[in-house]
Amino acid sequence: YLSPRGARVQQITVCVRKRPMSRRELQAKAVDIISVPSRDSLIIHELRNKVDLTKFLEHHKFRFDYTFDEQCSNTLVYEHTARPLIRTMFEGGNATCFAYGQTGSGKTHTMGGEFCGKVQDCTTGIYALAAKDVFAELAKPKYRDMGASITCSYFEIYGSKVFDLLLPDKPMLRVLEDGRQQVVICGLTKMPVTKVEDVLAIIEQGNRERTSGQTSVNIKSSRSHAVFQMGLLMPDQWEPCGKCSFVDLAGNERGADTQSANLQTRREGAEINKSLLALKECIRALSRHSSHLPFRGSKLTQVLRDSFIGGEQNKTCMIAMISPGLSSVENTLNTLRYADRVKEL
Ligand code: ADP
Ligand code: MG
Repeated sequence: YLSPRGARVQQITVCVRKRPMSRRELQAKAVDIISVPSRDSLIIHELRNKVDLTKFLEHHKFRFDYTFDEQCSNTLVYEHTARPLIRTMFEGGNATCFAYGQTGSGKTHTMGGEFCGKVQDCTTGIYALAAKDVFAELAKPKYRDMGASITCSYFEIYGSKVFDLLLPDKPMLRVLEDGRQQVVICGLTKMPVTKVEDVLAIIEQGNRERTSGQTSVNIKSSRSHAVFQMGLLMPDQWEPCGKCSFVDLAGNERGADTQSANLQTRREGAEINKSLLALKECIRALSRHSSHLPFRGSKLTQVLRDSFIGGEQNKTCMIAMISPGLSSVENTLNTLRYADRVKEL
């Protein structure tokens, strides 16, 4: 049941999800410029005479592995994106699912569900749906008899620093690389979990740390990458033998903050830009089975290094989120071009 019926699980899957218009956008009579004519294509429409869009070609058409329109539920998105990755983890590989896109495009909604600080609200996000499948798989005699177990980590990368979201006041952690290029996040919490509720509690706890001291959820969290990991642990082992990572990336529009008058903002923007570029190059290297892996390009790719090595048994899925409105057209095109490049050989 782990892969969509009949579908071959590819090593790299790139999907796009269009979110619905928000109430505010509807009230402001914002124009929806995205249509999703089929399951694997998407069109951005040119609006003649309304706004000068001469910078943009007419009717950009894009093709991806899956395109999800505004009617699609998190569950459907999950089925075609992260779900096939669970098997990868149980087969001893590293699977990674990225939510990419501008702030407000639906990354956190897709990954965490409609999270409002209450556990029951985030049962429909990819984290929770994946956890459900992980525990169903773990209950099978094969794994039960082996004594396999699951651990969870949840951390944030802000600037080029790593913060543990599962410890009070999210302490900064050191990242070390040993002689064999193994990357270790020193002291990262690996919480044993036995049921979906445990995972939800961990996410709730981590999200509280993530947003503490912020007046708006989107202020700082849009400038950091959140990484939630589940690992398959065999008895008497320290390191998981298979891993699934879910990454709620920083808003890609932040990469343009390099023009900002504020030095701190500029630095953060430069770091985000660097990490998203390095990520693209690492995924491309993975798809080309290239031996040169540019993971040192950023902290993000460094800590996810395991996801890009290991050849064919590793799998990556990127979900590019887009906003439907005309006012987002520039960011939307940037997002689609990025997703397109990730996939291009
Ligand atoms: P991001 O994490 O990319 O900044 P969010 O996930 O916070 O964006 O989404 C912005 C807003 O849009 C939130 O209020 C969220 O609930 C809403 N939203 C996003 N995607 C969807 C969707 N597919 N269906 C309904 N509401 C959505
Ligand atoms: Mg978010």
